[in-house]
Amino acid sequence: MSMSGVETATKLPSNLVQSAYCSEIGRIDILMSFPKGMFPVSRLGRCLCGCVQLDIEFDGFGLDVCHCTNCQLQTGSPFAAFLAVPVDSMVASGPIKKFTDHATVSGNTVERYFCGECGSPCYVGVVRAPNTAYVFSGLFTETGDLTPKVHGWTSQKHGWTHIEESIPQYAEDPGLFPE
Ligand SMILES: [Zn+2]
Ligand SMILES: [Zn+2]
Repeated sequence: MSMSGVETATKLPSNLVQSAYCSEIGRIDILMSFPKGMFPVSRLGRCLCGCVQLDIEFDGFGLDVCHCTNCQLQTGSPFAAFLAVPVDSMVASGPIKKFTDHATVSGNTVERYFCGECGSPCYVGVVRAPNTAYVFSGLFTETGDLTPKVHGWTSQKHGWTHIEESIPQYAEDPGLFPE
């Protein structure tokens, strides 16, 4: 290990580095985990039947949680948690079908993509923002690093749904302004 490598490691947050002593080379710093967002990650996803496969090269982990009635209707659940990813970073394959949703609370036309075999919701696109795909986080194989970033349309949330107070929440449009 070069000295420059050691110096780089010691600049990392101390909670991620554990020091050890080696009789051959002295003190060594071991990186215990990588800070979020440090490297692009490949995130894989699939529908219930496995016909739809998603492969996303994107290091985001913050979820946009939507409590709007139409997301409730599409998912059959009280809310939908999405990871917004650049469309260019995602490869989606399989028998994907699209429902064009004109009757949204935001007034935006939303394209709701789902598996044509098993019906799993897969991702959502806002027509005026064609470069962003909102992927339903339930499809991902690895979910340990995902965390809610913002809650939107809480005016329509189910009564029993509890939201952590530390997370921003908006009664209506959360103002995401996707591209
Ligand atoms: Zn399927
Ligand atoms: Zn929604």
